[in-house]
Formats: sequence, structure tokens, C-alpha cells
Amino acid sequence: MIPYEFDYYRPDTIQEAVDLSKHLKTSGQKAIYYGGGTEFITMARLNNIYVDAIIDIKNIPECNVYEIDGDELIVGSAITLTHIAEMRLFPLLSMAAHRVADHTVRGKITLGGNLAGSIIYKETSLPLLVANSDILIGKIAQIKRIPFNEYWSKSPEEKKGDLIIQLIIDKRYLALPHAHVKRTKNEKIGYPLVSIAALKDGENINIAFSGICDVPFRSKDIEKALNDSTVSKDERIHNMLENIPFEILDDLGGAMEYRKFMLSKVVEDMVEAFEGGDGHAQNIWH
Ligand SMILES: Cc1cc2nc3c(=O)[nH]c(=O)nc-3n(C[C@H](O)[C@H](O)[C@H](O)COP(=O)(O)OP(=O)(O)OC[C@H]3O[C@@H](n4cnc5c(N)ncnc54)[C@H](O)[C@@H]3O)c2cc1C
Repeated sequence: MIPYEFDYYRPDTIQEAVDLSKHLKTSGQKAIYYGGGTEFITMARLNNIYVDAIIDIKNIPECNVYEIDGDELIVGSAITLTHIAEMRLFPLLSMAAHRVADHTVRGKITLGGNLAGSIIYKETSLPLLVANSDILIGKIAQIKRIPFNEYWSKSPEEKKGDLIIQLIIDKRYLALPHAHVKRTKNEKIGYPLVSIAALKDGENINIAFSGICDVPFRSKDIEKALNDSTVSKDERIHNMLENIPFEILDDLGGAMEYRKFMLSKVVEDMVEAFEGGDGHAQNIWH
């Protein structure tokens, strides 16, 4: 049971949701958007979060879209990870979604919740980063479409209060050769020690990481190092490790040296799989 009372709103339009959020904020109330509720309910039960109101976005039509529209795939933020995993419109995103949490929880977690929640792994961000996606967000008095990579590099403070409406992926990326790898401490299900998603776009590998640092990331310097065909594979992996942009996690989940070792092995095997055979590494690596 949640040990306090709060108001529940379920707006039917983006405008209503954004206006409501603004109104609650200016009247001094703490309100958050609500997707699948898995994180909010767990934290509220433990008294780890207090809100005056929640704004459930599941009635907003734009947040429930999951379709190809012209040259783009549109994924609404209220779509559950189970739905994304089962309808393989973007196989790399489906693979990443399929490895988040367990079957029961996955049926509730939404794409927007995975991207905006406080749990650091946000594994569905990885395919969106490597596919140069766009994100549609609702801010006070405006709806903005911006590159997801740009949005992702903003601080939590800058993103605070944004309503994630949709993720938009150019169709060109949907069927590129791809790989997804997740390694956990013990079981198939669990938080990642290392989670990577990669696309082979022409001669280049686009790659993004979760589990290594306390934020999921894609890095130009890492891709430059990995795609440098003038040096040996060992050197490329070494240079990749030298270019990790944040501190590597070192905790009970996994020591820093172990995470680095696992990362280098996984990336080395992935590069080999991409560069040999038909370039479709996904069957080997999921
Ligand atoms: C048992 C369990 C296992 C998990 N395992 C993994 C894992 O392996 N890998 C991984 O990456 N994550 C994992 N997670 C994290 C999970 O993906 C996040 O907690 C996610 O926030 C839950 O999504 P939700 O839709 O239930 O979010 P909610 O509980 O509804 O919301 C969580 C937060 O996101 C915000 N939010 C939700 N939707 C939007 C939106 N459209 N726009 C703006 N803000 C929004 C809410 O305001 C709230 O702050 C796990 C979580 C649980 C409970």
C-alpha cells in the first residue's frame, strides 16, 4: 500500500497533460507523469518518493502509436516493452526491450518510463542512440522534436518536467545488421554489468553502452577508435577502453576491472562477428 494520498489525473490530450503539469507546479504541488507505474509504485510504497499528483499518460493517443508512418517508425512513450519486444518493427529495440526485467514486469514498463525513470540502466535508450532517432517532447507551451542523442546529453535538471511523447526512427536503420548483448552477474534476468547495442551502418559500427557507467551513452571517440581500420583489433579495443567518457562503475554488482574485462571481450567478439560472415551478429549475440 502507498502510505499517503495523492491525486490521479488521466488527460486525453498532450496539451491537457502539459497544462496540468504546469498548473500543478505553479500551485506548489509536486506532480509526475505516470506510465506503467512499476517504478513509481515500488518507490512510493517504500516512502522513497512523495508526490501530490500523478498524471497518467495512457489515454493520450500520440503516446499509444506504434507504427510505420512513411519513412519513419513512430513509437509512443506509453507502449509497453512487451509490445515492443513482440512486434519486431525495429528488431534491435525489440531485443533490448526483451531483456529488461522479467516477463510480468515487462508487460507494464513503458518505453517512456524506461527512458525517464530513476533506475540508471535505461537499456532501451541504446538502440535509439545508435539509430540516430528523434524524440518528441512536450514542454510548457511547446512540443519539440529534437535528435535523441542531443536530448540524451542534457542534464536531468534540463529534462525535468518534460513529457516524452514519441520516439521516431528513420526506416533506413530498422533492418541494418545489428547486435545486442547483455551480461548480468548471475542470471539471464537482472541489471546489466554490460549491455550494448550496435548497428553496422556501411563500414562503420554505431555502438552504445549501459551498465558500464552510471549513465547509458554513445561516444564519438569510442566509435572513432573502434572503426579505425588502420590499427589492429587489439589496439582498437584498447583505444575504446581509453575513451570511456565517464567513471566505470565499481560496486557490489561488479568490480571495475571485471566490467572492463567483460566489455572488451564482448566488443571484441562483436567486432569479429560484424566483420566476418554476413555481418548479422544478432543471432550469436542476443
Ligand atoms: C523489477 C524491475 C526490474 C527492472 N529491470 C530493468 C532492466 O533490466 N533494465 C533497465 O533498463 N531497467 C530496468 N528496470 C527499470 C524500469 O525500466 C524503470 O523503473 C521504468 O521507469 C519503469 O517504467 P514505468 O513505465 O513503469 O515507469 P513509471 O513507474 O510509470 O514512471 C517512472 C518514472 O518515469 C517517469 N515517466 C514515465 N513515463 C514518462 C513519460 N512518457 N514522459 C516523462 N516521464 C515519464 C515518471 O514520471 C517517473 O518519474 C527495472 C524495473 C523494475 C521494477
